[in-house]
Amino acid sequence: MKPVTALLVNPYIYDFSAYSFWSSPLGLLTIGALLRKNGFEINKVDCLRVVEEKRKDDGRAPFLKEKVKPPDCLKGIKKRFRRYGIAPETLNKELSAIEKPHLILITSIMTYWYPGAREVLTILREVFPSAKIIVGGIYPSLCYEHAQATMQKADMVISNRQIEKFYAFIEGVFPVKLSYKPSPDDINVLPYPAFDLYETTIPFVPLLTSVGCMYKCTYCATPYMHPRIIRRQPQSVLEEICYWHERGVKRYVIYDDNFLYKKEAYAKPLLRGIARLPFSIDIYNPNALNASLIDSEIALLLKEANFKEVRVGFETKDTFLQQSTGGKINTNSFENAIHHLFEAGFKKETIGAYTLAGLPFQRWEDVKASIDCLSDLGVKALIAEYTPIPHTPLFQTFYMHARYPIKEEPLFQNNALFPFAWEGFTEEDLLNLKHYVREKNRAFDNSM
Ligand code: SF4
Repeated sequence: MKPVTALLVNPYIYDFSAYSFWSSPLGLLTIGALLRKNGFEINKVDCLRVVEEKRKDDGRAPFLKEKVKPPDCLKGIKKRFRRYGIAPETLNKELSAIEKPHLILITSIMTYWYPGAREVLTILREVFPSAKIIVGGIYPSLCYEHAQATMQKADMVISNRQIEKFYAFIEGVFPVKLSYKPSPDDINVLPYPAFDLYETTIPFVPLLTSVGCMYKCTYCATPYMHPRIIRRQPQSVLEEICYWHERGVKRYVIYDDNFLYKKEAYAKPLLRGIARLPFSIDIYNPNALNASLIDSEIALLLKEANFKEVRVGFETKDTFLQQSTGGKINTNSFENAIHHLFEAGFKKETIGAYTLAGLPFQRWEDVKASIDCLSDLGVKALIAEYTPIPHTPLFQTFYMHARYPIKEEPLFQNNALFPFAWEGFTEEDLLNLKHYVREKNRAFDNSM
């Protein structure tokens, strides 16, 4: 009997700005690997392609992009609206060269990226009318009803907690009995994501080292998406690094919101293990480390494991905001963490600290004070513009104060629109802060 064939699709996106900041469709590729383990033949189309010639040494790269007309509700916004990734005509052409799949899985990541996923779904439905199509990812997990209404051409829309529904659908529709049906939380046994489907060299591999988080920051969806904290055994992570290293991968990106939680049992043995590997790798952590958990030993181990830079969460200098948004950090413990990182040998330009801008009723002066504090400590400030995310406490409490209907229309959840601008923090203030932070960061770069 011929195997069931599945096509994994990462759609292009529409946005005001986007950059491949070590982004990859990890969940989609993991589900693909899981189906392969069950005997499926898998293939992929990743529409989010980058300009390879412009890829940086650290693996990041700009997406292909093209200016397009914005949807009606975003007309009047004075920013360029673009499609990032390949054009629909290119997608059509590539699909015509693919053998008809039985099953198609489409992922959809940010909530306000759904128009790209919907358009790609329409194209796939036209090209492969008889294929079964499932749409999953973060968007349907956070906006399930909206996704059901938007993705009507799909045979199923699935949220991240519905893996049993996914397995039942597959077994109900295809003549297969799945012998391997792990939960997405079984991160110690999940197959490695199917990066081997990419024809070119793999520029980096993300390492999922835990799910869930010990904190409940009011702006963050992690506690909703992953209510249980599950850590991956250090040995399992080391084995994956060796697996990819044998296939030529040098750069690794830690996908972990909680990397230092229970650090004695997890992060420390893992970092020691990486430092002892008979080869060297480069490590990046776009998801910030929790600074309050960085002690002198962790700082040294991060250095020995070859973190090329360390990103930490500062969020705000304001004591009230620190506490009211979750209490994961205070300025004192942050300063200690920075001290440990410097002592371990990290240079100023290799430490970046996120500071949040645009929280409901936040004042621009708060962000400036945070930038000044970080600059005084000698670390790069990175402005993280607040994105209102459904199912988070901050969203539920303040959505009616946004200047757009963010609850009804996910397109307005885009942080590029600055949904919570108000007279105490205007768009002009934000532009000034971006300029200010550039100057501050440049000033200490020049002093090196
Ligand atoms: S510490 Fe980070 S991942 Fe955890 S809840 Fe806060 S923002 Fe989210």
